[in-house]
Amino acid sequence: MSGDRLSTAEVRELDAKHVLHSWSAQNAITPVPIASASGASFTDADGNTWLDFASQLVNMNIGHQHPKLVQAIKDQADELCYIAPAFANDKRSELARLIADRAPGALNTVFFTNGGAEANENAIRMARVHTGRHKILSMYRSYHGATSTAITATGDPRRWPSDGAATGVVHFMGPYAYRSAFGSTDQEEESRRALDHLRQTVQLEGPGTIAGILLETIVGTNGVLIPPAGYLDGVRQLCDDYGIAMIADEVMVGFGRTGEWFAIGGFDVEPDLITFAKGVNSGYVPLGGVILSDRIARTFDDTPYPGGLTYSGHPLACAAGAASIKIFEEEHILENVRDLGERVLRPRLEKMAVDHPSIGEVRGKGLFFALELVRNRDTREPLVPFNASGADAEPMARLMTACKERGVWPFSHFNRLQIAPPLVISEDDLVRGLDAIDEALSVAD
Ligand code: PLP
Repeated sequence: MSGDRLSTAEVRELDAKHVLHSWSAQNAITPVPIASASGASFTDADGNTWLDFASQLVNMNIGHQHPKLVQAIKDQADELCYIAPAFANDKRSELARLIADRAPGALNTVFFTNGGAEANENAIRMARVHTGRHKILSMYRSYHGATSTAITATGDPRRWPSDGAATGVVHFMGPYAYRSAFGSTDQEEESRRALDHLRQTVQLEGPGTIAGILLETIVGTNGVLIPPAGYLDGVRQLCDDYGIAMIADEVMVGFGRTGEWFAIGGFDVEPDLITFAKGVNSGYVPLGGVILSDRIARTFDDTPYPGGLTYSGHPLACAAGAASIKIFEEEHILENVRDLGERVLRPRLEKMAVDHPSIGEVRGKGLFFALELVRNRDTREPLVPFNASGADAEPMARLMTACKERGVWPFSHFNRLQIAPPLVISEDDLVRGLDAIDEALSVAD
């Protein structure tokens, strides 16, 4: 270890003085200095270790410090750290092929970005150039990233004064049977009514003005909302009827989170564009991208693609992506996700829902679940209001503290506790983390 490494006190002091952290009032936070991480856990500078049940923003699919992935980055750094996007590069070509081979049907071309928001910005641009139209329809209760168009497309209940910088975004209500906007009493009815609503929105906006419908295959940050049977097929049909591009945002659910390479594979629907980031290389080096259908890719055979990024297809990031996909296969990671998800995680959370009156609903697939917490199961009054902050958010803050005190660090958003551990987690660690959450939940009951 280098002799001029900062002390923990220095890390804290310099962070407070010089680092602006995301999404927070700086005086309201005290970031924990992290010293190390391995597999499904991370450790702070004082030696406290937590099971990482949030996979660091649902991103660390392959786990922390996977030795083969670290080695692949080192090998690439020895060979070639950077070459501009206009050149071809072996790792970029190899990763594009590995992704195309795993994407549904005729999605065969990849445009690389540095992360998820940029992927959505570019997918929207592709849909606009391809269709010659401007409007984008996206869901309330969604998160698509924090750049200008992506944050405008985002339908998270959070709103910021800087929103609306981008034009042409129209929001619609997606299916959410537990709190149906359409008065549905079951999933089938919710699917039908949500599709009727979307069709009406398309007609009222004018189909000839709509470039794309952008949706998360499974809404992630806003509650792990699994679309009911038939919904995504219906969206596909609507897009076909009116020549609209269907854009599936797989930034959070792509690359194994639900036990499929892409979550949309589990619904047997082929979108026109897929956006990805996070799990493609578990954030070891920033990487995201758009996978284009052959039809949309052909738009740019003779017309220049009007966009580019200095770090598009960065060799270190692509080397990490290619190595990660191979490790997934060598270590049977998709199989681990399906097995642990159905055999251990789902039944245990359903058992907790019997024991804890604060759990209103359990939703999820693979290693991606949410507990929707309520004050009252009959009225479904949320444990904290949507868009809660400060004192209003206190019950969730108490629950997170209780989890952390018991050695597990899940993800919380408004009235939901979300569980998304690294996909390499062992059964023992998964059960240990669930035991801790089970105990912690008593502070919310
Ligand atoms: N899309 C989805 C579904 C996401 O969950 C996120 C991030 O959480 C993004 C897009 C934005 O990705 P990034 O933070 O890499 O820009």
